[in-house]
Amino acid sequence: MTSTFSSSSTTSPIAIIGAGLGGLVLARVLWVNGITTTIFEAEASPDARDQGGLLDIHEYNGQLALKVAGLYNEFLALILPGEDAKRITDKHGHILWDKPSSLLSSKPEVDRGALRRLLIASLPAGCIQWGRKLTQVRTRSEGTQELTFSDGTHYEAGLVIGADGAWSKVRPLLSNAKPAYTGTTFFEIYQHAHRAHHKAIAELVGKGTLMAVAPGKAILAHHYANGDIRAYIALNKSESWGARMAAYTEKSDVLLCLAREFSDWAVTLQHILIHSDTLPIVRPLCALPIEHRWKRVAGVSLVGDAAHVMTPFAGEGANLAMYDGAELALALCKHPDNTERALSEYEQALFERSARFAKQTADNQQRFLGSGAPNSVVDLFSAY
Ligand SMILES: Cc1cc2nc3c(=O)[nH]c(=O)nc-3n(C[C@H](O)[C@H](O)[C@H](O)COP(=O)(O)OP(=O)(O)OC[C@H]3O[C@@H](n4cnc5c(N)ncnc54)[C@H](O)[C@@H]3O)c2cc1C
Repeated sequence: MTSTFSSSSTTSPIAIIGAGLGGLVLARVLWVNGITTTIFEAEASPDARDQGGLLDIHEYNGQLALKVAGLYNEFLALILPGEDAKRITDKHGHILWDKPSSLLSSKPEVDRGALRRLLIASLPAGCIQWGRKLTQVRTRSEGTQELTFSDGTHYEAGLVIGADGAWSKVRPLLSNAKPAYTGTTFFEIYQHAHRAHHKAIAELVGKGTLMAVAPGKAILAHHYANGDIRAYIALNKSESWGARMAAYTEKSDVLLCLAREFSDWAVTLQHILIHSDTLPIVRPLCALPIEHRWKRVAGVSLVGDAAHVMTPFAGEGANLAMYDGAELALALCKHPDNTERALSEYEQALFERSARFAKQTADNQQRFLGSGAPNSVVDLFSAY
């Protein structure tokens, strides 16, 4: 096991910014290949924040990354059997398409928090420094990167990888692009099983995920095995409307505004949002340009959302983040004495891959919320 990594110009540590799925897979694959790294994570601890809902992990990217990370069997143990069922309805709650769960699914569902915990536990003690929020990166004249953190401390790295998500602090070293609002805002809600009306809701949602869609709006609800419901209420609205919703601190204020938007929907669908147990989390969906790319800059690169944040309508973001992490690690292992060659090879493939999935995602967003919904969503899922 080495504690340093040879780059073309210097022998210095590798710093990964962000302990999301992308940064964690990168660190894990490097570690199983004998290369140690330090991950700097802004959050104070692994449990500082609810990690959100389920992720379907795809055979062709997310699962491959977990195999390279040597964690495939552990991943299989996390699969939630039966929760990959999918159902599409119109706004009246009429079922238009219904697919039961399958034990042979190539996209099984796992809990995002459980997957992240697995990756964290797979790294050596001390690899992740929690509560270290990067505020600035500066390239020093010697060619190394000086990292500055919000607590006023500094760190010098030979190679810095931005795995710090949509609003990456590393990306400006490579590109001027910023994520732009895509016109859709998600409101994330959670409903415990004990609620009144819950039986009717559970029956309509079915055993997995319900997609109730109409032009410009959707209710995307998941029914957990314990009976709870997590839902994303999707609305095509201005960014300022979303910002007004985000300013409310009373749950009832937001739910009332949402309920008005769905007043001509089936009552059971309205109950999904009206009976939220939590203050809705407002998530304006932003994306980088589909063809986002950059010129090679020595000693810096990106993985995951930092490189290619896109909306969730193809369910690829977390899968791609893990795949990027594995691919970058393998490239660095392949060229241990030539970091720049490794980064160049990694980025060429990354740019092509990201553009393909970003385009697919943008098309899917149109299918979900455009004028053809809900039939366009039925066509999309029937094609798989
Ligand atoms: C509502 C919603 C639903 C989604 N559903 C799916 C889905 O079903 N399937 C799927 O594949 N994808 C889905 N995605 C996309 C997926 O969540 C992201 O693509 C994925 O999390 C990206 O992983 P990442 O590791 O690149 O970044 P992130 O998960 O964003 O992790 C970045 C990490 O960096 C840390 N960080 C940020 N800034 C700093 C800083 N300055 N200093 C230090 N640390 C920092 C953050 O705290 C975080 O831990 C969804 C996204 C949303 C919004």
